[in-house]
Amino acid sequence: MHKKIVILGSGFAGVNTYLSLVSSLKSYKKSKSESEYPEITLINKTNHFLFTPLLHEVATGSLSEHQVVESLHGIMYKTGGNFLEAEVQSVDLENKIVKTTKGDMSYDILVVALGSQTNFFGIEGAEEHTLPLKTLQDALVLKNTFISIFEQASGLASAEERKQLLSFSVIGGGPTGVESAAEMADLFFETFNRYYKGKINCDEVTLNLLTRDKELLPMFESGLRESALKTLKDKKVKIYLNAVVKKIEPGKIYLEDGIEIQSRVTLYAAGVTPVSVEIIPTPDKDRVGRILVNKYLNLPNMDNVFVLGDIACTERFTGKSLPMLAQVAVQQGKVTGRNIAAMLTGKNLSTFVYKSKGSLVSLGQWHAVGKVAGILWTGPVAWFIWRTAYLFNFNSWPNRIRIAVDWTLNLFNPRDITKA
Ligand SMILES: Cc1cc2nc3c(=O)[nH]c(=O)nc-3n(C[C@H](O)[C@H](O)[C@H](O)COP(=O)(O)OP(=O)(O)OC[C@H]3O[C@@H](n4cnc5c(N)ncnc54)[C@H](O)[C@@H]3O)c2cc1C
Repeated sequence: MHKKIVILGSGFAGVNTYLSLVSSLKSYKKSKSESEYPEITLINKTNHFLFTPLLHEVATGSLSEHQVVESLHGIMYKTGGNFLEAEVQSVDLENKIVKTTKGDMSYDILVVALGSQTNFFGIEGAEEHTLPLKTLQDALVLKNTFISIFEQASGLASAEERKQLLSFSVIGGGPTGVESAAEMADLFFETFNRYYKGKINCDEVTLNLLTRDKELLPMFESGLRESALKTLKDKKVKIYLNAVVKKIEPGKIYLEDGIEIQSRVTLYAAGVTPVSVEIIPTPDKDRVGRILVNKYLNLPNMDNVFVLGDIACTERFTGKSLPMLAQVAVQQGKVTGRNIAAMLTGKNLSTFVYKSKGSLVSLGQWHAVGKVAGILWTGPVAWFIWRTAYLFNFNSWPNRIRIAVDWTLNLFNPRDITKA
């Protein structure tokens, strides 16, 4: 009888589980009859894999929306699995049933890899009056909003009115906030400046970056933090450190220390929280809501249920929780695929051990900072490493080639400012 394997979520963790499982089962497929090969189903609410690390480039016109997504049908083509485009509503662990918007599905082995969502930390008005950057749709909304604001401002006769309109902020001093602010600066002060010359003066545009921490990129070495700060300041980004946001109203950000910041468009990149899908019985979670797993990424006492990626917390065996990063999710996906194949073939499971490949943050055209192979990198070399590393993280060669071509063209051409 077919074993039913169901994978929830087709992000970094889910897709890598799928690919690793299919590849590990290749020899099994040859040795068993068709009826013994497992039935593998991947469920996701969109029919694409989204490469989140490049979302800020879509929001700022460096890359088109098609370049940061890959079709799941394309990824799964000829591998024998099923894809279901549906939203997962709940999981019943006792009866081994997943409830989705397209009906119920039973499973023998389950992988929960549903990722995370924007966390507004209960800041008054944040959800209503800021724009997040988490999905492809978010990136397109941001891009269209930036373009609309500049179009509108270019028609205003009053410099004061233009100034009010052209006020932008990014909340969040981690990698996503910093990368977004750097790209926005390039878009506003270079691309838009070129097209709206004579109608909008650069000095009328303000771009703020706010962080509640005392420094940007607190997880990086001090030399890299300082380099990032200097690069952003050179790009005319106004940095607010120790800026604890209290409330947001249309056009205004209020800080706890009484400062009020004018901001017509605010990009919110201050944090994420695990996706909250109902799982019965409720598994143990850490203080931020990530599900606690054992060294095989299983729920305790449930070796047929794996939980991985942003939604999982490994602190029970890694000491402290791993960061919510694509490279963690990818490595967890790969080991889970191999482990499921091992279960089916009666072999021993491998424990999950995380090996950091380093981290890099882009700072707009020609700039990046990061640590790779134990070496600190800044400037154009870091930028080149960053680009090369990301290219090879895509699953398909057509996407890699398209992005490489576009990045090369972008070196000599302005960004795309047509609305999506
Ligand atoms: C803007 C941005 C930039 C980032 N940059 C970097 C970076 O440079 N480097 C890095 O290492 N990490 C980066 N990250 C973090 C990285 O994206 C995550 O750590 C990684 O995506 C986690 O993988 P995952 O598979 O757990 O979740 P995801 O990749 O988020 O995948 C979860 C999947 O589940 C689907 N899903 C969610 N809920 C449901 C539901 N109810 N029903 C059906 N499907 C559902 C989602 O559509 C998604 O496809 C970035 C994140 C963001 C938002």
